[in-house]
Amino acid sequence: MSFFEDLRFCLKPRCPACRQGRLFKQWSVDPVEECDVCHMRLGDNDVGDGASVFMIFLLGATIVPMALIVDHFFNIPLWVHAILWGCVMLGLIIVILPAVKAYIILLNHRHRSKK
Ligand SMILES: [Zn+2]
Repeated sequence: MSFFEDLRFCLKPRCPACRQGRLFKQWSVDPVEECDVCHMRLGDNDVGDGASVFMIFLLGATIVPMALIVDHFFNIPLWVHAILWGCVMLGLIIVILPAVKAYIILLNHRHRSKK
């Protein structure tokens, strides 16, 4: 597996085994119970809070400095900051969270013990 194949997997999450069936339920980041193509059980993949914690660290480390820089140069009211950065964070979460969760499921599939 190359880095670019993993990146493509994260941007378009599919079954980690066959790479064809859906990984997540529609309009959700919950994995489907079973792959439509290879019938591998995907519902057992529990990533817990791993993806959420990663997002908190990533967005906290990037959004807060950006808000401070924007406030320094533009001096906008506090309520504008709340709306602006709230929308930015919500948009980034919608885009990045499924990719992070798919990557954790991929790593879980790749490194799980074979029984
Ligand atoms: Zn599959």
